[in-house]
Formats: sequence, structure tokens, C-alpha cells
Amino acid sequence: MEYPKECILDEPLIFDSHAHLDDAKFDSIRDELIPAMSGCGVMGIITCGCDINSSKAALMLAEKYDFIYAAVGIHPQEISKGENADEIKALCSHKKCVAIGEIGLDYYWEKDKAEEQKELFKKQIIIAKELDLPIIVHDRDAHEDTLNILKAYKPKGVVHCFSGSVEMAKEILKLGMYIGIGGVITFKNAKKLPDVAQIVPDDKLLIETDCPYLAPEPYRGRLCHSGYIPLTAAKLAEIRGVSAEDILKLTAKNAKTLFAIE
Ligand SMILES: [Zn+2]
Repeated sequence: MEYPKECILDEPLIFDSHAHLDDAKFDSIRDELIPAMSGCGVMGIITCGCDINSSKAALMLAEKYDFIYAAVGIHPQEISKGENADEIKALCSHKKCVAIGEIGLDYYWEKDKAEEQKELFKKQIIIAKELDLPIIVHDRDAHEDTLNILKAYKPKGVVHCFSGSVEMAKEILKLGMYIGIGGVITFKNAKKLPDVAQIVPDDKLLIETDCPYLAPEPYRGRLCHSGYIPLTAAKLAEIRGVSAEDILKLTAKNAKTLFAIE
């Protein structure tokens, strides 16, 4: 297991608002990794489901570890499975389920199923609103349709791994939603993201990994986990002219507020 030494904190300050701890890439190290993270500064993780099975796996991890919380949902990349959103609704009654996600639109992988994706996205938003849960939104190459649906339904939640423009970020913020920023901010080709990172108000910023993917620099390409977040926080701190500790504290506070965690 690789744990970057410079990311080990004395205090538990890290709240990773978006992870996939059930991913098969963690299978051989999961039982060692999760307790290690908790001892190295990670205070909370939202692990997100992508279909019915991974949503159940997320709930099982949340049951096993106090500092892990689950989001349940059907990801747009899983649209071909034809799973029923009502099954997601049934999983929401679990006491460690704090959100519906990850849900949304992906026109990079499944553009030919755009209509089905939109239907499933709307259906899961309606469930979230009924249950008063926040949503965790995936938007890949589908900015316009994502924004239109969010404007129409006005759910609470976060657009995770934000990849839109500053203008889109402003629209999302107007809806009262949060913006999730992860390791991509440390990449040289991050283009618009530093400008977005500058304009998000303190009370609407979330930090995340999307692990096992998107490890921040200088570890890009490595198997990522929540312990890498101090590197992302350092970059955000540089852009926003504050300390990395400030970023960790405010993003942890925001995650607890959005996901109603004590
Ligand atoms: Zn994700």
C-alpha cells in the first residue's frame, strides 16, 4: 500500500466528499487502507455507488466504518444495465445513506443514450427531493443538459469533479449547490478549473478524490485514495490565497453541512 508521507496529518482534518471505496482496484488493500487513512488525518469519506450492487457495497462499508458514509445511485455510465431507480429509493432508508449519487449525464461514454440518461437522472432527483437528500452529480460533456435539469428541479447537492466554465459554476452556485474539486486542479492541463476554484465562495466548496482515479500531482496515474487530499488542498490554498489547513477545515465543515453529518 502506498501512502504519501507528506500527506500524513496529526489531526483528522480531511473530509473526502467523493470516493469509490468499493472499486475492485482496492480489493487487495481495502482492509489495510481504510483504518490507515483514519489514523493519518482522514475524518470522513462519502463513498458513492454507481449501480445497485455498488450502492449496496457502499452501504456495507459505511456500516463497517464509523467515518465512512454512503451515497446510493445509478451512474449514467451504467445506463445500459436498465436498473430501476425504485431499488435505489429502497436503499436510502439505511441510516448511513447521506445522499443519492452518483447520478447525472455522461455524453462522453453514452451519448447515444442521452434520453434514457436524462430520464434516469430526473427520476433519481425526484426521489432525492422526496426524501430530502442531497444529490451528487456527474456531468461529463453534458454541461447544458445538466444545468437545464438542475435549474428545472432545484435539488440540493454538489456537482462533483466540476469541469464546466466559470459561467456554469456561477449558475450552479445561484441554485445554492456546491462545487466539488479534486486532483484535476493539480494537473498542468486543468485550464478553466483554477478560475472556477477562485470564485467558489468558502461555504460552497467541497474537496474530493473520485478515487481510485485522479490522484493529484506529483502522483498522477497512481492508485488514488482519500489520504492524497492534502496535495489537492495545497493547490486550492495557493489559488485562493489561504492555508491548506484552512481549505481542509472549510471543506470538511461544508461536507458535514451538505450531508447532514454531526
Ligand atoms: Zn465518482
